[in-house]
Amino acid sequence: MAQVLDGKAHADRMLAEVQARVESRPASRRPPCLAVVLVGEDPASQVYVRGKVKACAQTGIRSLEFRPAAEVTQEELDALILSLNADPEVDGILVQLPLPAHLDAKRALHLVSPAKDVDGFHPMNQGLLLEGLPGLRPCTPTACMRMLEHHGVALKGMHAVVLGRSEIVGKPMALMLLEHHATVTIAHSRTRDLPGLCRQADLLVAAVGRPGLVEGSWIKPGAIVVDVGINRITDLELGRRIFARDPGKLAILESKGAVLCGDVRFAEAMEVAGAVTPVPGGVGPLTIAGLMMNTLQAWEASTEVS
Ligand code: NAP
Repeated sequence: MAQVLDGKAHADRMLAEVQARVESRPASRRPPCLAVVLVGEDPASQVYVRGKVKACAQTGIRSLEFRPAAEVTQEELDALILSLNADPEVDGILVQLPLPAHLDAKRALHLVSPAKDVDGFHPMNQGLLLEGLPGLRPCTPTACMRMLEHHGVALKGMHAVVLGRSEIVGKPMALMLLEHHATVTIAHSRTRDLPGLCRQADLLVAAVGRPGLVEGSWIKPGAIVVDVGINRITDLELGRRIFARDPGKLAILESKGAVLCGDVRFAEAMEVAGAVTPVPGGVGPLTIAGLMMNTLQAWEASTEVS
């Protein structure tokens, strides 16, 4: 059986580190402050924001919530972001995605000051990552890298396959692995023979948002599998197919009508891989911890003292 890489435990260590650094600040210095912008009433976004605000409270980071109505105009959203950029009491700005369809998400993200871009989505920060220079980096891949480092994974020379090429996860993850001397292949929806490619991976990172896409037979024996996908399943037929070897998950789906799962069939992966992250309890908590780390980093880099 593979080792389960417990993201929650590692996230707790990261949060404790943030808390210790916040608490050891000089008496004259205010704590870090994260501003969260949540447009509209999307239920999943509300859950994510609640988790982020809770982590702020746990670590001693002040959080400010801005909740414009779903009908907010682009100009009003722009004005809010610009006012937060100008506010010396705010260290980090997070615009929760997705935004309602009439708003231009890229425009909003590009408007956030690079110094306060704790999601690491601004082109300036993405460019710094591309050059291997310090900057605010996307939370999910950064936290995954910290977890791999914590578990002593020797990335040098490994063949890493990253499934997914989003700006948020796939591309930055690939760059970070490359920075650590892995040989990286990025796969996507047009890649040929995905199972065959995955079987070559010493490290497989799945970030596609397709429940149970990666089967046990796709995994090289002993490989490390990082499952970034978070999928909520309600379809019993689909559940029966992808949880054929996972009676526990199927039972939750049957009794509660919904279950969370990753892009990897966890139970099948456990029979083949060397180590696997679970969903939930894997990359999800790490991402929030990564956000707290980034807020701390933005605060430490700022010269504002109150
Ligand atoms: P995204 O922007 O939708 O990107 C998905 C990527 O997967 C795309 O590059 C797409 O290829 C590729 N893809 C889709 N279907 C595929 C298939 N059948 N075979 C191969 N590749 C396929 O998603 P994302 O924002 O990166 O998120 C990915 C997943 O991670 C989602 O489940 C999301 O909820 C989760 N996530 C979790 C966390 C966390 O904290 N754990 C954070 C962020 C995201 P194309 O480019 O060719 O379309």
